[in-house]
Amino acid sequence: MLRPHPDMFMPIITKIEIILLSLPFAQPFKIALTVMDKAQHIIIRIHDSDGLVGIGEGVPARFVTGEAPETAFEAAQLYAKLLIGKNPLEIEARLGEMERFMLKNTSTRCAYDLALYDLLAKHADLPLYALLGGTKKVLHSNRTIGIDTPAAMAATAKKHVENGVIALKIKVGTGRDEDLERVRTIREAAGAGIALRLDANQAWDEITALTILTALAENDKVPLDPGGIEVCEQPLPYWNFDGLKRLRERSPIAIMADESIFDAHDAFRLAQMGAVDYFNIKLAKSAGIHGALKINAIGEAAGIRCMLGGMSETLLGVSAGAHLLCACPNITLYDLDSPFHFNENPVSGGVDFQSNGTVTLTDAPGHGADLQPDWIERSQKVIVE
Ligand SMILES: [Mg+2]
Repeated sequence: MLRPHPDMFMPIITKIEIILLSLPFAQPFKIALTVMDKAQHIIIRIHDSDGLVGIGEGVPARFVTGEAPETAFEAAQLYAKLLIGKNPLEIEARLGEMERFMLKNTSTRCAYDLALYDLLAKHADLPLYALLGGTKKVLHSNRTIGIDTPAAMAATAKKHVENGVIALKIKVGTGRDEDLERVRTIREAAGAGIALRLDANQAWDEITALTILTALAENDKVPLDPGGIEVCEQPLPYWNFDGLKRLRERSPIAIMADESIFDAHDAFRLAQMGAVDYFNIKLAKSAGIHGALKINAIGEAAGIRCMLGGMSETLLGVSAGAHLLCACPNITLYDLDSPFHFNENPVSGGVDFQSNGTVTLTDAPGHGADLQPDWIERSQKVIVE
């Protein structure tokens, strides 16, 4: 009997919507690198010939990924032209073509990656965590406190702890004395049982970092104990791998790479050097789930645990991340609270995120999130077909 060629049953990408989502922050958020007051994200909606739609979000961050919203919006259109007419289920092939066509642009490629995984899971009629082989669980994210006066940060910390938050991520990096006062004041306000995670966003040099971390460890609990200072994220400039290694050898507090690690190549080099204790995986840096899985696998092989962090993702990007977490037990620290930057939620569906940091997944196919129709309507948009 003559059988039809299998390609006859494969869907093809028929249309791609590229949306520039603009969303004001509820209040300015300060870190050592910048102050953020507005989000401009790339939303990709990939339509296929079976009538299904996969949705993804990317957060261009000039100061980390080197993308501006305007350049990401243009880059997304070039990628779209590359993908039209091709099979969206061949994720390995599609992402490889995109990377070979135009390097970097990691948050733009992330939006496509998340949309392709969402579409694949919808074809399988499975929630994304199940497609990835994971087990659904309730996640507990830290809440992040931006740079402010020590007293104001301590007041925010107290409010979070009273609300049931179990871990706080504290932005530091304005100078030795103020950073020391900041962490000590927050510890007093938060109490002993709350895990503190520091993030210097590249602001220190080696001597400053070692001085601060040594002083904090003497003042605080034993590092890595539940409720102690768990980790210090990116104390040094992103390029200083050797400095991270020297600091890690002498620091009493665990060291995490964030801006230093984008992809599996960075992960391999950092692991080979023994430069850090943790990797902070962000989908905007790893160009999505495909790259994140590779970084996590390298971490797992090297005995390096991971955090899943974020830029300023809405519930859309965070939902995709939450599904990934259910499939990656080596990612033990969750920093997902970016949707709280905004007063408005432009997303329908997706995870349920409580202000105490508790994230609950649904069993809808894919990651379950989409941009609300009125937000699609009112945003700057290009359709490629
Ligand atoms: Mg960070």
